[in-house]
Amino acid sequence: MTVRTRFAPSPTGMLHIGGARTALYAWLYAQHCGGEFMLRIEDTDLQRSTDEAIQVILDGLSWLGLDWHGEPVFQGQRRAQHVQAIEKLLSSGQAYRCYCSKEELDAMRDEQRAQGKKPMYDGRCRHREDPSLDQPYVVRFRSPDDGETSLHDLVLDDVSFANRELDDLILMRSDGSPTYNLAVVVDDADMGITHVIRGSDHLNNTPRQIQLYEALGLPTPQFAHIPLIHGPDGAKMSKRHGAVAITEYREAGYLPDAVINYLVRLGWSHGDEEVFSREQLISLFDIHDVGKAAARFDQDKLDWLNGHYLRSSEPGELQAAVAMQLTSMGINISGGPDLAHVIAALQERSKNTVDMAEGARLFYQAPLSYDEKAVQKNFKEGAWPLLQDFLVRAEKLQDWDAVMLHALLGEVCEAHEAKLGKLAQPIRILISGCAVSPPIDMTLALLGKDEFIRRLQAGIRKLS
Ligand code: GLU
Repeated sequence: MTVRTRFAPSPTGMLHIGGARTALYAWLYAQHCGGEFMLRIEDTDLQRSTDEAIQVILDGLSWLGLDWHGEPVFQGQRRAQHVQAIEKLLSSGQAYRCYCSKEELDAMRDEQRAQGKKPMYDGRCRHREDPSLDQPYVVRFRSPDDGETSLHDLVLDDVSFANRELDDLILMRSDGSPTYNLAVVVDDADMGITHVIRGSDHLNNTPRQIQLYEALGLPTPQFAHIPLIHGPDGAKMSKRHGAVAITEYREAGYLPDAVINYLVRLGWSHGDEEVFSREQLISLFDIHDVGKAAARFDQDKLDWLNGHYLRSSEPGELQAAVAMQLTSMGINISGGPDLAHVIAALQERSKNTVDMAEGARLFYQAPLSYDEKAVQKNFKEGAWPLLQDFLVRAEKLQDWDAVMLHALLGEVCEAHEAKLGKLAQPIRILISGCAVSPPIDMTLALLGKDEFIRRLQAGIRKLS
């Protein structure tokens, strides 16, 4: 049997950390088993589904490298199959038309409450003798009255539901639209899904879905309900905890590998290990090992992992992400130094690719202004003669590389009996506008001789 999993988001809100982790677990389990991972967009709620949310799902999954098999399935396009299944249940007597009006249902529930019972549909239309055919109706599933519906969940173990707690579910609304549980069952069966991996907020739907599989004579898949993610304060994850669209992590400078590594550990572990490559995850991850307890979101750990991946990546691997940040900052890198070299100089100090792009800015953009505080602090007496002397000697430097520049900086400082900072800081300010940059010799080597001279002369003109 080929394992087939799926991710089935509703594009009614933005795909965030929780949804991305569900997708990751379904993707990983499929990879682990040599199976297939499918994507189904559950867009039947036309009022609340948006194109923007669909785009975030597609972009977000692609960015994370969670590639799906074949084309995404759009649930809204499968209405005919849903209706067909409903008709099948109607003709076998496992579903029936319910003509109850809203008033009748309200009265029924009021009465149940008055008797201290849980309000639920009492099945009165199962045997209705006088259905008037021109009246609006819904189609209900004739669910079993007694016994239990049980499953062996791959995460939660054995779970049972008393059938008497489950009333006759509406399968089709009075406007003819099929409802959620019916559509999910029909689609999962048609797509050949063997393992339904989803958030534990769906557990209550599962007995209903199992009953529908049975009534339709379809094989029931295995289920794995994964615990929810809570914020650091233990409350359900919300925007305030960083439950933003997953693509915003890309914009904020996170690397997909760091996000993947972070997400996988929200509910799954392998000893005390924190850092896993994708290959390791595919070989180690098993849905049976996912814990039952809710995971807590931890921003510091995500940042730590991001720093780890930033430092351990090859500069070339970071190039596209940093270039994207520079472009969004309005910086054109053409004509400047090789971005991979700039990245190599910044890797040790950066926390994310936004940071890195900020650090890279000076190599592609002359300062538009100079940080006043830094100027006041670093341009005290003695700075100008040092700078002038360095400029004169630098102009004559043949080999413009970090080693030669290092030596030259040392020479000039020695001649003026000054510490390196007395020269390096003013240079940083003149070339970048502020007093922070990678090591000064490396910075100047990367910037290039002509650009250095241009910026120093312009700075001296403006500030001296
Ligand atoms: N569409 C549902 C959601 O976004 C998921 C359905 C499922 O996984 O079965 O929550």
